[in-house]
Amino acid sequence: MNIVVCIKQVPETTEVKINPETNTLIREGVKSMVNPFDAYAIEEGVRLKEKLGGKATVITMGPPQAEAVLREAISVGIDEGILLSDRAFAGSDTWATSYTLSAAIKRIGAFDLIVCGKQASDGDTAQVGPGISAHLDIPQVTYVKKIEEVNPVRNTKAIIGEDKISNGVKDKSIRVERMTEEGFEIIEVPLPALITVVKEINTPRLPSLKGMMRAKQAKIIHWTAKDIATEPDCIGLTGSPTQVVKIFTPTPRVGGQMLKGETQEIVEKLVEELKKEIP
Ligand SMILES: Cc1cc2nc3c(=O)[nH]c(=O)nc-3n(C[C@H](O)[C@H](O)[C@H](O)COP(=O)(O)OP(=O)(O)OC[C@H]3O[C@@H](n4cnc5c(N)ncnc54)[C@H](O)[C@@H]3O)c2cc1C
Repeated sequence: MNIVVCIKQVPETTEVKINPETNTLIREGVKSMVNPFDAYAIEEGVRLKEKLGGKATVITMGPPQAEAVLREAISVGIDEGILLSDRAFAGSDTWATSYTLSAAIKRIGAFDLIVCGKQASDGDTAQVGPGISAHLDIPQVTYVKKIEEVNPVRNTKAIIGEDKISNGVKDKSIRVERMTEEGFEIIEVPLPALITVVKEINTPRLPSLKGMMRAKQAKIIHWTAKDIATEPDCIGLTGSPTQVVKIFTPTPRVGGQMLKGETQEIVEKLVEELKKEIP
C-alpha cells in the first residue's frame, strides 16, 4: 500500500502580514509549524503503512524552510519526504497548488491513497485536497473521521451477496466514515483515492528519540517545476485563476436587540420592528 500524505507548513501565529502589492501572506521570517489537521493525516498514513505494509511518503509545496515539516513527519514514522520548491510556484492559489501537488504525485508513480488534512489553518479554504483528486481524476472523500476497512489488493475470491463485486473480483477499495453535520455516513470508494481527515480520526503520536535521529539524517528530495514537468501557465501567480482583490477584517457585529415576553407578544414586536426597517 503506497500512501502519499500532503502537508502544509503554516505560521504559528495568526498575526501574519500581508504583502500590499499581491495581497498574499508574507511567510518569510514567520515561525512555522505543521498545519494542525495535517498531523492527523500523517498519523493515519503511518498507521496504514504499519498495518498493511508498503511506503508512506510526505509531500509539501513551500519555501525551502518547509523542509522542517517533512522532517517532523519522518520523525513519527513517514518513510520519505519530498519538498516542492521553486520561485515559479510563488503566488499559487488553491487551483495552482493542487495542480502542482498532483503533478508531483504523478511523478511519485504508483500510489493507492492520498491523505490530506481537512483544511489549512491559514488559507482555510479546504479546497486543495478535492483539487488534487480532480486533477488526478480519482475519487475523494472529505471529512473522514474513521477508516473502517482497506482492501489494498484486488480480491479474486468472489464473496456472494456483498456489493461492489463485479465478475467475482472485488476492486481495491477503502471504506470510511465521513463526518456530516447530522452525524456520519459510510462511503466506499475504489482505490486509488484521496481522503481529507478531521481531528476525530486519531491521536497523533509523539516522535521517539530514534525517530528524531532518523529525521535529522533523512535525505529530503527536492523537486522544482522542471522536475515534475508542470505547464508554466498552470503554476504560480500567472497560473492562478483567482486573484485576491482585497483583504480586510470584517467590522464586529454590535449589540442586537432582545425581545422579551410571550411568543405571541414577541412575534408582534418583531413584526413592528421589521416594518420600521422597510423604507
Ligand atoms: C490569488 C492567490 C494568491 C496566493 N498567493 C500566495 C502566495 O504568494 N504565497 C502563499 O504562501 N500563499 C498564497 N496563496 C495561498 C495559497 O493558495 C493557499 O495557501 C494554498 O493554495 C493552500 O490553500 P489553503 O491554505 O486554503 O489549504 P486548504 O485547501 O485548506 O488545505 C487542505 C489540505 O491540503 C493540503 N495542502 C494545502 N496546501 C498544501 C501545500 N502547500 N503543500 C502540501 N499540501 C498542502 C494539506 O493536507 C491541507 O490540510 C494565494 C492564494 C490565492 C487565492
